[in-house]
Amino acid sequence: MFYPQLDINLSTIKNNTEIVVNMCRKHKIKVSGVIKGFNGLPKVAEKMIEGGIINIGSSRLEQLKNMKEFFPELETLLLRIPMMSEIEDLVEYCDISLNSNRETLDIIDQEAKKRKKKHRVILMRDLGDLREGVFNLEEFVELCQYAENLDNIYLEGIGTNLSCYGSIAPTRENMLELEKTAELVEEKIARKLDIVSGGGTTTLPLVYRDEIPKKINHLRLGEGIINAMDLPKYWDTDIKGLKTDTFILKAQVVESNTKPTYPIGKMCVDAFGNKPVYQDMGKRKRVILAVGNQDTGDSKKLEPVEDKMIVMGSSSDHTIVDVDDLDREIKVGDILEFKLFYQPMLFLTGSNYVKINYVK
Ligand SMILES: *Cc1c(COP(=O)(O)O)cnc(C)c1O
Repeated sequence: MFYPQLDINLSTIKNNTEIVVNMCRKHKIKVSGVIKGFNGLPKVAEKMIEGGIINIGSSRLEQLKNMKEFFPELETLLLRIPMMSEIEDLVEYCDISLNSNRETLDIIDQEAKKRKKKHRVILMRDLGDLREGVFNLEEFVELCQYAENLDNIYLEGIGTNLSCYGSIAPTRENMLELEKTAELVEEKIARKLDIVSGGGTTTLPLVYRDEIPKKINHLRLGEGIINAMDLPKYWDTDIKGLKTDTFILKAQVVESNTKPTYPIGKMCVDAFGNKPVYQDMGKRKRVILAVGNQDTGDSKKLEPVEDKMIVMGSSSDHTIVDVDDLDREIKVGDILEFKLFYQPMLFLTGSNYVKINYVK
């Protein structure tokens, strides 16, 4: 047996997808399934497809290229503004991309012409999160008109992204601003846009509470389908039927001891140059797991399946777990199980040191 192992529950992923897609369908919202959080594993992506998403999105072109190889009929959406250096592959493997500047649109237009294709774009407006997108409304509308006039590009729609950098929440207000922007663009280009894309998982609470403006007809969803851990924890939104045990990390105990909880000696920085704050809780039973931040990104983002276990901290390949409150003894060689927030999913699915098991 090889550890750490990552169990991926495929039927739960299909089930979660169906629940979210059906909820969105009631609001006439189509869903792109985002695969970047699990490194584009084809078996997982396949379950999202079976669950009813309209196409597959990723920020990584390599993952979309791989998808086209597995599922040639599948429509692909590039979520990160394309690099100038990847436009050939973009036009070849990608049907739609998110964009925010003229120079890139020009190169896409030339490449699409060469390949006798029409590339579809969704132009991004920044509504305050300060990652991608045109900030100024007038400039944004001009960019849309510019795209509309390029021969080998089709302006499929507009969109926005929130939460990821500035941690700005999608609200009815900023979604109404997106709606207003769409109406203005439609007036200028004298036709309807196909897509008004209201964001990712963090926009789902607005759909759930029936507060999403009518014109928003598309979302790009990863975490909310795949882990479904963030909405109940951070967004006070518990969508009925969604399960969080889609990914389970199994890690092995290599030491079990009772030790003080407050480090002894002159304190400096930890393995990553950080200065964590330690709480003195006296002597406690704790174990060391053979898994660390190289595998998980941040082991503190693991959630023990069993209550009463606390992840104390970790270095590259050790994770310390407090098991003092547990009713049973944990021995060296035992296996402990964890659910994953987004960051460990991202790291564990991409690690060469982790064995992935697909559970039917
Ligand atoms: C990653 C990403 C998403 C999906 O985010 P989730 O939180 O996983 O739903 C949507 N849009 C863009 C532009 C992204 O980069």
